[in-house]
Amino acid sequence: MINELKKDDVLLIVDVQKDFCPGGALAIENGDAVIPVLNNWISNAVASGVSAYASRDWHPKDHISFSKQGGSWPPHCIQDSEGARFHSDLELPDSVIKVTKGVRFDQDQNSAFDQTGLAVELHKKGIKRLWVGGLAEDVCVLATALDGLKEGFDVMLIKNATRPVTPEGGEKALKEMSDAGIKIVR
Ligand SMILES: [Zn+2]
Repeated sequence: MINELKKDDVLLIVDVQKDFCPGGALAIENGDAVIPVLNNWISNAVASGVSAYASRDWHPKDHISFSKQGGSWPPHCIQDSEGARFHSDLELPDSVIKVTKGVRFDQDQNSAFDQTGLAVELHKKGIKRLWVGGLAEDVCVLATALDGLKEGFDVMLIKNATRPVTPEGGEKALKEMSDAGIKIVR
């Protein structure tokens, strides 16, 4: 599918950060398996002149999404911590634009489109289609892909470039995305 990249496409990499990979604070099983796949997509995007964006979860200390504060997750991706870094194996050239989310004190932002202005930016560039991968399939990738669709883009999910928190969650997310009109590609 990589050869199908067109000028009005964008590659959107969701939250490939240390904390979401094995050994991290909120490790996703085989989360790091998405990295070589995404590296391949990044280099093809660069070669095709297609823009790439990489989102990162970037929480203030004691964020509302952490369990101690009544949220669902252990503390993760705390601003400037080691765990909040993009995984070091992810080959992000300087041309990849970063999207920072999860910074609000009063609510979580799972989607890379949630109050980041990303949709405005992509529409301004004439982008029509998004290729989405990253972590986690059933949380931030799901929210990002669905929002992308709502914002009027065609959305392609790169199946082997994402992993879920739980297998059941992954199945459910795939169905939800596919039912909504997102194309699932290998
Ligand atoms: Zn988070």
